[in-house]
Amino acid sequence: MVWVLDSTLREGEQTPGVYFDKHIKLAIANLLNEVGIDIIEAGHPMVTQEIHSAVKSIAQKDFKSIVGAHSRSLKSDVDLALECSVGFLGIFYCVSEERLNTVFKKDLDAAIQQITDVIKYAKSQNPKLLIRYTPEDTVRSQFENVVKAAVAAVEAGADIISVADTTGYMVTGTQRNMYDYISRLKSEFDKRNLKPKIAVHCHNDRGLALANALDAYRGGAEIIDATVLGLGERAGIVDLAELLVVLTVDYGIQKWNLQKLTELYELVSKHSGIPIPANYPVTGKNAFTHCAGVHTHAASINPMHYESLNPEILGRERNFALDHMSGIASLRYALKLINEEDLDEDIQQDVLKEVKAVGQRGRTVDLAELKHIVDAVKHHQTYTK
Ligand SMILES: [Zn+2]
Repeated sequence: MVWVLDSTLREGEQTPGVYFDKHIKLAIANLLNEVGIDIIEAGHPMVTQEIHSAVKSIAQKDFKSIVGAHSRSLKSDVDLALECSVGFLGIFYCVSEERLNTVFKKDLDAAIQQITDVIKYAKSQNPKLLIRYTPEDTVRSQFENVVKAAVAAVEAGADIISVADTTGYMVTGTQRNMYDYISRLKSEFDKRNLKPKIAVHCHNDRGLALANALDAYRGGAEIIDATVLGLGERAGIVDLAELLVVLTVDYGIQKWNLQKLTELYELVSKHSGIPIPANYPVTGKNAFTHCAGVHTHAASINPMHYESLNPEILGRERNFALDHMSGIASLRYALKLINEEDLDEDIQQDVLKEVKAVGQRGRTVDLAELKHIVDAVKHHQTYTK
């Protein structure tokens, strides 16, 4: 069954200007555990002493989630991760000719030697440790290099190979699609009788991270990386809430507690300083709010006319906003909700006029404000009679 890896505390902190204090990291990890996230990538202990200490504290919690650390292909990084008693270690190293030649000044065989030495070392220190090897920028690297390094990594003890679309380069429906890539890679492992789990790490530079991740899943990937609010380098990665909702509702995988997502998103948004856009799918303020008169009318009879997701799965409620687009049917529906359905026709028309006037000023009228408008119109009518 598919696993979800949340990287809000690692990739998410690579969002410009985002840093979570240790106590906030713990609170986020607590909620991720309550959501039922399979792997929590808690950080890269080498980066700072505080991250090291946060990773250690999270790993010490009695979580059902596996807690993991990020690590370069260096024994010193691995030692720091092992000190934190994590159950998962993500090791990365590039395999592209250009990068090896220009950045690392190393040939592929030397790189593979370094990768496999580190994996063997980590496994010897803790045989139960789940090890993931990521060839950085996998999809733009020479395929034969990826296969050579990944096969060597698995033979050295890696349990998971992650396909990273580090720059959000893949596009479904074109030559560079995740389904074909994962299928090809899996067949290379099959040929050698190796069975690592395949993970995918999809960046969102073209807004296709979720589509690519699902394409990879269809191709046989079993672990999908995501972050709260899709936080991460540049345009970030797959949004956690969108991924979990699709996997639950559309793929029928019932293993996550979606009711905790709102609290998690509010916490992360507050402490990252990144607002949740009002029109954001699943967690945005407007995600379940009907506005246009014709929509409100139909949705008030049966919400499924204009919804394909039920807000109750997230513990949220359907809303009806009144503004300049509202018609008499939506007003009547809203009046029913505030027990004012018996208003005279002319009062209803005056209330609607007022609502539309507010809407034209760029605001929506919620039920509390609607009550004030009704009171004012009633008062006006009594006074002018
Ligand atoms: Zn990334």
